[in-house]
Amino acid sequence: MFELKVVTHFSAAHQLKAFRGGCETLHGHNWKIEAYVMSDALGDAGVVVDFRELKAALRSIMETLDHSFLNDLPAFKDTSPSSENIARYVADQLAQRIPDPRVRVSRVTAWESENACATFYPNTGTAGRISHL
Ligand SMILES: [Zn+2]
Repeated sequence: MFELKVVTHFSAAHQLKAFRGGCETLHGHNWKIEAYVMSDALGDAGVVVDFRELKAALRSIMETLDHSFLNDLPAFKDTSPSSENIARYVADQLAQRIPDPRVRVSRVTAWESENACATFYPNTGTAGRISHL
């Protein structure tokens, strides 16, 4: 099994819903996103996927988040914009942007500070992401 990781960042504000703690008031983070894709077979060029494609896909996802108030985005209309849900959002969006059925998103980690992160593991039980079609 091969796994690639690409790291990117975005800055945004959020306000957690139904949460008692420092995050219930409006504040911001500089999130670090680590996205992993894996494949048990390599493509013709001997790579899982071209890093440029992976970076471009992540860049387009970051553009939907960067300098936003996350609570206002459609993705978080009905869910709290926690680091957990951000990781899931990025994983779902990335899966939709990688058309190659050989390649799947294995996990996405969202770091909201230097020492706190949340990781989402997409369902790995079945091939592909048929549930999203
Ligand atoms: Zn926060």
